[in-house]
Amino acid sequence: MTDPATLIADTPTRLLIDGRFVSGEAGRDFATLNPCTGEELARIAEAGPADVDRAVAAARAALDGPWGRFTPAQRQAVLLRLADLVERDFDDLALLDTLEMGRPITAARGMRDIVTRALRHFAGLATAIHGQTLGNSFPVDLMAMTLKEPIGVVAAIIPWNGPLFSAAWKIAPALAAGCSVVLKPAEDASLSPLRFGALCLEAGVPAGVVNIVTGAGATGAALTEHPGIDKISFTGSCETGQRIIAASAGTVKRVTMELGGKSPNIIFADADLSRAIPAAAMGVFNNAGQVCAAGTRLFVERAVYDEVVAGVAAFAESLRLGPSLSPDTQIGPLVSAKQFSRVDHYLDRGPAEGARLVTGGARVTEGVLATGHYVAPTVFADVTDDMAIAREEIFGPVASIFAFDTLDEVIERANATRFGLAGGVWTRDIGKAMAAVRRVRAGTLWVNHYFAMDPAVPFGGYKMSGFGREGGFEHVESYLNTKSVWIRMD
Ligand code: ADP
Repeated sequence: MTDPATLIADTPTRLLIDGRFVSGEAGRDFATLNPCTGEELARIAEAGPADVDRAVAAARAALDGPWGRFTPAQRQAVLLRLADLVERDFDDLALLDTLEMGRPITAARGMRDIVTRALRHFAGLATAIHGQTLGNSFPVDLMAMTLKEPIGVVAAIIPWNGPLFSAAWKIAPALAAGCSVVLKPAEDASLSPLRFGALCLEAGVPAGVVNIVTGAGATGAALTEHPGIDKISFTGSCETGQRIIAASAGTVKRVTMELGGKSPNIIFADADLSRAIPAAAMGVFNNAGQVCAAGTRLFVERAVYDEVVAGVAAFAESLRLGPSLSPDTQIGPLVSAKQFSRVDHYLDRGPAEGARLVTGGARVTEGVLATGHYVAPTVFADVTDDMAIAREEIFGPVASIFAFDTLDEVIERANATRFGLAGGVWTRDIGKAMAAVRRVRAGTLWVNHYFAMDPAVPFGGYKMSGFGREGGFEHVESYLNTKSVWIRMD
């Protein structure tokens, strides 16, 4: 493993604008902290409005310049080179995520396949973009066809819970479509996106095609109001998403929103519990619960309720909570003090509203854990639908378990949420599984599994979990405009 201090000294901490890493015009910067120790890892340049202007101008110039003349095959070749470089440096990129946002090192390294596969998948789609010729009934002999054109300059605003994954997952399809990008990483996790930006340059992505402006919400807000941005692709909280939608109205930008969730995971009594229990537990505790699609509302049919509550609690207790750099660690700390105070609020709120605490429920501060915000994987049972822990996204390692009696009842309760990102169904009965799949109002349903993702498969929300799909050809489509062309044939 590369020495962390050497790796950080070797990683850009300035803004990426027009192919160069530069300081912000105001010369301001901010600290990024190691959530395991609270120590400052690095100081990152903060982009102000003038820097955002420069980044947007560079992205526009790139589109009007050489990047606009790249053939699809050339864009594909660049993305394939980028995938090779990310593969080459993956351990370092994973280490940056571990150091900065606390994902355990073994889990961070485990994302090699999904990240590199996404880059190659979208590289493949660069040469698959096509319009149509359309039969029409216009009384004069006219041929109609559609052309697909890059939508223009994309602002990609990403959260801190999967920085490298999010950067790759947003940038690759935009480049495949021929767009240029201004990426705004989250203030808690800028390092792996900046290093990814350096790899874009090494791969031969021309200057100005990928720009990175680091900073907090104000930097993101400057992008969302900027007249030079054509499209915003956002992943983050529902509240920030709502603000961005409002800000985008002024210049009628295209927007894609991948927001929060409170996903139901439904276990019927006939399910294979030896699979359902560990998957349901990891469906909540993975990444210390800091996952938008986490299956945080676990509905269990009454006949197996006690067995599942006990099983999930035992699984939670078996998880190794520890420093993120330790290869044995399965659950690391929460990303920040701010995130801890959010989660901590619900650890008190659950019992106060009458939920039964089965395990966890508190911060763990023993030994080396004292310096980070470690929360024991927590299970609340006998939760009712009106409690705050049943309704609000916690974004921490907190499972709420509910008992149910009938299919109709559980579907109605699963849908009684403003969110609709994902859901799970566990049963050996295909009829029951499909009834649930059809009736749960969410963008992804897993049957006898939880968390499968693939760049070829669309992912996104119903209801207040957002709109637009990431993954699959729809993702590339979301970065394209359709132009209709009529040609008189006589
Ligand atoms: P969290 O509160 O957990 O950090 P957010 O949804 O606020 O989650 O953050 C996701 C991303 O949105 C981050 O990159 C953040 O800096 C950015 N952001 C926050 N506020 C705004 C805003 N008003 N406009 C644009 N981006 C924002």
